Order: sequence, then C-alpha cells, then structure tokens
Amino acid sequence: MKLNSRFLKSILLLSSIIVLLVALVTPSQAMQVQISPTNPHLGDTLTLLIEQNRGAGEPSVTINQKTYPTFEIAPNRFRAMLPTTPLEQPGVRQIRVNAGDQVRNLAVQVKNRSFPIQRINLPPGKAGTSATQYELDRVAEFKKLVTPQKYWNGPFTRPNKGRISAIYGVRRYYNGKFAKDYYHRGVDYAGGVGSPVFAPASGRVALVGTVSQGFRIHGNIVGIDHGQGVTSAFLHLSRIDVKQGDMVKPGQVIGAVGSTGAVTGPHLHWGLYVHGESVDPVPWRERGFN
Ligand SMILES: [Zn+2]
Repeated sequence: MKLNSRFLKSILLLSSIIVLLVALVTPSQAMQVQISPTNPHLGDTLTLLIEQNRGAGEPSVTINQKTYPTFEIAPNRFRAMLPTTPLEQPGVRQIRVNAGDQVRNLAVQVKNRSFPIQRINLPPGKAGTSATQYELDRVAEFKKLVTPQKYWNGPFTRPNKGRISAIYGVRRYYNGKFAKDYYHRGVDYAGGVGSPVFAPASGRVALVGTVSQGFRIHGNIVGIDHGQGVTSAFLHLSRIDVKQGDMVKPGQVIGAVGSTGAVTGPHLHWGLYVHGESVDPVPWRERGFN
C-alpha cells in the first residue's frame, strides 16, 4: 500500500515534468520574430528574422507606415531589412509583421547617434551646381530595385585602398543655417586619381552613367544591385571598367577614382542603400549580413 502510493506520486511528478517540458519546447506563438542589432542607432540596418509555420506564405513588415518585403532565407525562415537614417527621430518604432492570418506587433528602440558637423560658407547667390533631371531619374530608378535574388555573401570589403576622408552621416550648416535634409549619404575614400575601385560584394551592374550623359553632380557613376533591395553607388569616377548587366565579384575592379561631377577634389564616394535609403556601410563591412 505504502509502495503503491509512492509509485503513484512519482508517476504524477513525472507526468507534470513532461507537461512542463512540452510547454517549454512548444512555441507559444506560431510565428517567431527576432530583431537585430539588439541596440540599434540611427543609420543602422534593422534585420528581422521571421520563423513561421509551413504554408503561411511570405510575411511582410510594416514600420513608419511603410511596408517592406521579406525574402525566404531557409525553409519557413524569412528576413526583412529595414533602413534607418540620420533624418529620423530617435525613439520607439512600432513594427507589424503580417503573415497570412497572423499578425505580430513589436516595438524597437532606435537610439540617437551624434554625427560630425560640417560648416560650409558659400558666397551669396552661389548655390553650386545642380543636378540634371536625367541623372536624378536614373539614380532614383536604380535605388528602387528590389531583386529577389541575394547576390552578396558575407561581409562587404572596402572599395578603395585610400584613407577614409568622410564618414557616413555627416550633417551640414550652410552659412550658419542647418541643412535639415542633408546628411552624407555614404563614405568617402581619398584614393588618388586612377586608383582602382573594387566591388565590395557580388552583384549585377544596374547603373552606368557618365558626365557626357548629364551626370553633373554624381559624375561618372557605377551602381551595383546586390539583390533583395540592397544597392551600392560609386561616384566621381575617372574611368568605368564595367557595363550595364555585368555580374561582378567582390574585389573586382569596376573603375577608377576621379574628380568628375560636383567635387572639390578627387575621391571615391560609396553610397550603400537599403530599399532606397542610404544606410551606414560600416556594419555591412564589419559584421556582415548573411
Ligand atoms: Zn561623399
């Protein structure tokens, strides 16, 4: 009798342990969402990893009233990339993930970052060169590309051996007035004229433009589509070594540093875009997004 009750007690204990374990390993929600980096700042690229049940379809992600696509990176695992920029206010963002009939709401805190300030003084009436409509249209069309294929692989490499002369995100005052729409949309490398410009990652050449076609501000330009809404632009080139449609590999020479377009001296400007917004390339070089 004594033995029997002890046996019964152990059975009860064992079954409650099993119930607890099952509860622990079974996801409480069918859809799992992970955001990185855990402590993002303005200019960072936010990554959302979404894991969901079979057959729920491609999820979409909405933030700041904008909807972004996701791409399947493994069976039932999807990824969205969301740009942030120095023009935004720091603070909490509400993110909504939609997948079939399932919805998840998340909040992410995007922290402020102090960007360097540049003071530019122009003589009155001198606004500088302005872009042609042609170059603005071509560049806008390029930045809109969202190719489903992912061409890049691993961290990006530096596109020129010269020292970095201007980092991403520099803000400006013109004649003492803050330029609220301006930030340095890329990284400048002070490579000498004629020094090689390398593709930082694989992709398809989706834009080739020249001064003679009307690229007055950008100068001779090459744009690489890395896929899934990630694009790179290389400005002020003295020489272009690729043509539209070429597939390039990381480290491949695509042109040479120059001083074409609106510049005060020779340098390479590399702009990295996620869904058309210029993001800081540094995390893409150091950490990588795979
Ligand atoms: Zn620049």
